[in-house]
Amino acid sequence: MDINKIREDFPILGRTVYNKPLVYLDNGATTQKPRCVVEAMVNEYYSVNANVHRGVHFLSQQATELHEAARETVGRFINARSTSEIIFTRGTTESINLMAYSFGEAFLHEGDEVIVSTMEHHSNIVPWQLLAERKGITLKVIPITDEGELILEEYEKLFTPRTRLVSVAHVSNVLGTVNPVAEIIRTAHAHDVPVLIDGAQSIPHMPVDVQALDADFYVFSAHKVYGPTGVGVLYGKEQWLDRMPPYQGGGEMIQHVSFERTTFNELPFKFEAGTPDYIGTTALATALDYVSAIGMEQIAAHEQELLSYAMQRMDEIPGMRIFGRAKQKSGAISFLVGDIHHFDMGTLLDRLGIAVRTGHHCAQPLMIRLGIEGTVRASFGLYNTKEEVDTLVAGIERVSKMF
Ligand code: PMP
Repeated sequence: MDINKIREDFPILGRTVYNKPLVYLDNGATTQKPRCVVEAMVNEYYSVNANVHRGVHFLSQQATELHEAARETVGRFINARSTSEIIFTRGTTESINLMAYSFGEAFLHEGDEVIVSTMEHHSNIVPWQLLAERKGITLKVIPITDEGELILEEYEKLFTPRTRLVSVAHVSNVLGTVNPVAEIIRTAHAHDVPVLIDGAQSIPHMPVDVQALDADFYVFSAHKVYGPTGVGVLYGKEQWLDRMPPYQGGGEMIQHVSFERTTFNELPFKFEAGTPDYIGTTALATALDYVSAIGMEQIAAHEQELLSYAMQRMDEIPGMRIFGRAKQKSGAISFLVGDIHHFDMGTLLDRLGIAVRTGHHCAQPLMIRLGIEGTVRASFGLYNTKEEVDTLVAGIERVSKMF
């Protein structure tokens, strides 16, 4: 990987903040966009724009072709069996809400149980809690070790005849833990329970093959994988999606409407009410083509090298506490230094041009488990360098000395 060449694809990386070169280490929140992704959007708006699916005219057909080609690209990227299994949504959050609503409507009844884990993002907790209020279901929670790994023996014990779904993150946005999702899925399937994988933090960092994992559902956001905001994906096995009711009603998702009776469209359109973000889907496909051309294996290897270098260098800082020391780790390092408040550390690093995230990272139950209020999080992308890690380490040392 020629990092310098790759960095040239991302114009924002060339800018300064407070007259310092930008060191962007907030990729877990969102990634920067390569020129080709922005150009794909501009080009489509300028030369193709028309609403998809319903038009007989040239532009509408061309826009539809691009939108459906994007669905194929997404399907290939995660190795789905067919494009009927790729539902476009607004993002991970909407994908999980769709699941809680629609899977919940079809398969969850009072007294049923959903298994989640201690390290879930609020997006994979709150939709299930809302469902719990509506339907009287119960959430069971997989505990974690102090290193930030799921305790699989405890996971197995959570299954009962009322377990209907397991919903866990592939990679923790706080700890960086890569959960053993293939094993988690095997265990669930042995109990005839399907599994939803929150792939928000795995999709940008590693090759994902939903068939090899045997995931029943896998969700992610385009903006975390160098694509645009406002677009996401719900992958689901047809056998499940077919039996789930629509999530929202409107145009696109119907076959025939009368005031007496409405019939619904086939997959995947049944779940896509209204005008889709067809510009965004083209841009997502462009982003996936971009990372594919570099190679997900290469990206993973580069980021692993960065991560182990950063862990080693950060461990040398006096008073450093790193949260999350799983054997399989990716993407993110959460830390605190001495008794410096995470917000102070983040604010002062920002003044040095270093963008990190501070706070509870939408994972308050995990913060409670760790006995802290928040952390500083540095999260890596394909364009980050060892020099940037050095700048981060020097910055943390400088801020530490001030306290
Ligand atoms: N799950 C995880 C693990 C995440 O990291 C995030 C984003 N921080 C989300 C879900 C929610 O993603 P979005 O805001 O794009 O819907």
